[in-house]
Amino acid sequence: MRIDTLPRISLAFLPTPVTELKRIAAHLGGPRILIKRDDLNGLAFGGNKTRKLEFLVGEALAQGCDSVITGGSAQSNHCRQTAAAAAVAGLECHLVLGGEEPDAITGNLLLDRLLGAKVHWSGQYRKGEQIPHIAEQLRSTGKRPYVIPYGGSNPVGANGFVEAMRELAIQLEKMRQLITHIVFASSSCGTQAGMAVGARLFLPKVKVVGIRIDKDETELPFEEQMVVLANDTAKHVGAQMTFVKSDFEIRDGYLGGGYGVVGDLERSAIRLLARTEGILLDPVYTARAFGAMVDLIKKGEFSKDDCVLFWHTGGTPTLFSYAGELVRSQ
Ligand SMILES: *Cc1c(COP(=O)(O)O)cnc(C)c1O
Repeated sequence: MRIDTLPRISLAFLPTPVTELKRIAAHLGGPRILIKRDDLNGLAFGGNKTRKLEFLVGEALAQGCDSVITGGSAQSNHCRQTAAAAAVAGLECHLVLGGEEPDAITGNLLLDRLLGAKVHWSGQYRKGEQIPHIAEQLRSTGKRPYVIPYGGSNPVGANGFVEAMRELAIQLEKMRQLITHIVFASSSCGTQAGMAVGARLFLPKVKVVGIRIDKDETELPFEEQMVVLANDTAKHVGAQMTFVKSDFEIRDGYLGGGYGVVGDLERSAIRLLARTEGILLDPVYTARAFGAMVDLIKKGEFSKDDCVLFWHTGGTPTLFSYAGELVRSQ
């Protein structure tokens, strides 16, 4: 299959660990819970974008590009991992970040700077809307930039999660573990679309449950974006399959105050996992998704015989930029 011939560079220590959360499962009295630690993949504090970047930066090198450009919010995990991936590949990195340059350089922004990325501030735009404009500027100075979309979410990037499902299937078989569900934070569609394709290929019985993190609607409703990206990703990897809206399980009841707004759900999820298992979640993505999983368990969504795998997608450097909100009510 075409999937085995796509350009790739190695950025992560794979497979990432899978462990069981016994204390928290006992505390909740629900199904067994496993956790997959993409926060520990080894690239500059880790995270799920590393898997996408192995293919995106692989393609940039195959095309002879000399730089990469991407965008996101000021505390974007995707941008920080892109800066690190570009450093590994010897490419210049340009980041288009939402907002104005803040006074405090902390969290991912500090890491972007240390990793040598060139930052372009884009005011009200936090989803990379100005990437084409900056890319054009770079081209006019003779550079050959490779454009990575917001979240690294196109078929090239999503393939990272097709491969991740293959990795997980092999890992679970070695561990003699069966899982019934995967729960994780879903935002720019790349992770969930890739998992959907990968699940059909490698773990067909597992239910993939995305917890929505961001309520902003773009041109296309979220489910439709998911369908388009999953179908394009299947084509990209050479898999014969098609997806429709009902193939995606997406929970949007946990949006709280909106993207990046920390509420009680996130604060208690961070404390619960930290204090029962010594594992840190990030305030924007994984805390919301983990809090949602805890809520679903409490509501009896899973049976005692189920085994739920929580996919830790990273993001922990933003803990430091949210210090005030996280310890306020302690
Ligand atoms: C980007 C990100 C996600 C969501 O991944 P998508 O592919 O954009 O859906 C989840 N968790 C963290 C920590 C992220 O940085």
